[in-house]
Amino acid sequence: MPDAIDQIQDVSERHLANSLQHRKRVRANRLPGLTQCEDVDCRADIAPARTEMGARLCVGCQTAEEARGAQHAAWGRR
Ligand SMILES: [Zn+2]
Repeated sequence: MPDAIDQIQDVSERHLANSLQHRKRVRANRLPGLTQCEDVDCRADIAPARTEMGARLCVGCQTAEEARGAQHAAWGRR
């Protein structure tokens, strides 16, 4: 039955195209990071590569935040 096989192939191909399209749309809607620094006093642009990695702060604020975190960690150990 070549007709039935063609039909199944057609349906599965369409289904695959749909799910690929859906996945692309989901990825476009969900931005992992921010394009501008989360710090209201800063608002510096964040590089797209860092946004994709989920960055919410610019390099300067991120460094300051990490330094603060390290200080807290040192405090906790005392
Ligand atoms: Zn910043």
